[in-house]
Amino acid sequence: MAVNHRIVLASRPAPGLPVPENFRIEEAPIPAPAEGQVQVRVHYLSLDPYMRGRMDAAKSYAKPVEIGEVMVGGTVGEVTESRHPKFAKGDFVAGSLGWQEWGVADARAVTKIDPQLAPISAYLGTLGMPGITAWVGLLDIAQPRAGETVVVSAASGAVGSVVGQLAKIRGCRAVGIAGGKAKCDYVVHELGFDVCIDYKAGRLRDGQVAPRNMNPEGPDSGEREGRYPLVLSDALKAAAPNGIDVYFENVGGETLDTVLRLMNPFGRVAVCGMISQYNASEIYGVREFRSILVNRLRVQGFIVSDRMELWPKALAELGGWFREGKLKYRESVAQGLEAAPRAFIGMLRGENFGKQLVRLV
Ligand code: NDP
Repeated sequence: MAVNHRIVLASRPAPGLPVPENFRIEEAPIPAPAEGQVQVRVHYLSLDPYMRGRMDAAKSYAKPVEIGEVMVGGTVGEVTESRHPKFAKGDFVAGSLGWQEWGVADARAVTKIDPQLAPISAYLGTLGMPGITAWVGLLDIAQPRAGETVVVSAASGAVGSVVGQLAKIRGCRAVGIAGGKAKCDYVVHELGFDVCIDYKAGRLRDGQVAPRNMNPEGPDSGEREGRYPLVLSDALKAAAPNGIDVYFENVGGETLDTVLRLMNPFGRVAVCGMISQYNASEIYGVREFRSILVNRLRVQGFIVSDRMELWPKALAELGGWFREGKLKYRESVAQGLEAAPRAFIGMLRGENFGKQLVRLV
């Protein structure tokens, strides 16, 4: 008899990175849909940084996953049975069925997706929550104008890659910050950013990393002595000679402080994520608040699920640009549900290259 495999939270992580033992794989019956629900065979599971927060009991913007509960997660899959007139067997839908092979959901909790427009996995990335996050943070919150300089951290990732491409569509200078030469080459040569700074380009005496300016036309700050923020600062100055008007923040920590120092008057900072802090045993204290005052910056945090009213417009625009070939993306795909915990931990260490997914079918 066919069974459903699912991954539950076995224990809360100690401070630092989660470990595979924090997760447990279980077998369960395949759930049957009730009236008004659909049954879905999950094809792809999305792994996202926010899941790290859900593993902790600490108060946050969303409630934690309880011990023994199925891990939360965005999914795309095929409707295998429908008890709602809006859906038919064979439809492809996006939803949030969690880390499991089969799930049921109320019809209003899933959305039909179009496999003709894009491979279904793209609806977990550029044409899904991460793409909308980029759209909301950049276009609604930061509102860059043509000619302005936009900097984005975690630039090769699911959100960051869209941010830079949207900045280019808006006529801005797009500067990425990413870990490693391969990621930076991709950001510039495939995604079309103007520059990408590799913040891992050289190890320094104290174990910190120095960035290298990867702009093929620009000066190369290279491997240098000095503390990380100073070297990142040099690379950013070269990459953004007119200063920084918009910073799309994905990582936090020293990167945030360094960028804050280089912001132009009336710049905007869209605070989307702080991945460098999610596993930190000691939280980094931001020092450059003064820049917010002297440069009259607008700094705004946001959670994409608070802005549901913008999703239809964002999705329509992202779909249009995708159709026109203006949005490229890349995926890291782990195979099989049992690979999810390691792939998730790997993503938190920067081992993913593009949107991290798990393929279940
Ligand atoms: P990514 O695809 O960008 O993957 C995570 C990347 O973060 C890694 O590949 C790595 O890239 C980078 N990273 C990991 N650890 C560190 C570190 N210590 N310092 C600097 N960079 C690090 O993930 P997403 O695009 O899904 O998410 C990007 C950010 O957006 C996250 O902070 C996430 O929490 C946030 N987010 C916020 C949402 C909201 O509603 N506010 C919604 C969705 C995402 P590299 O190798 O380049 O360092």
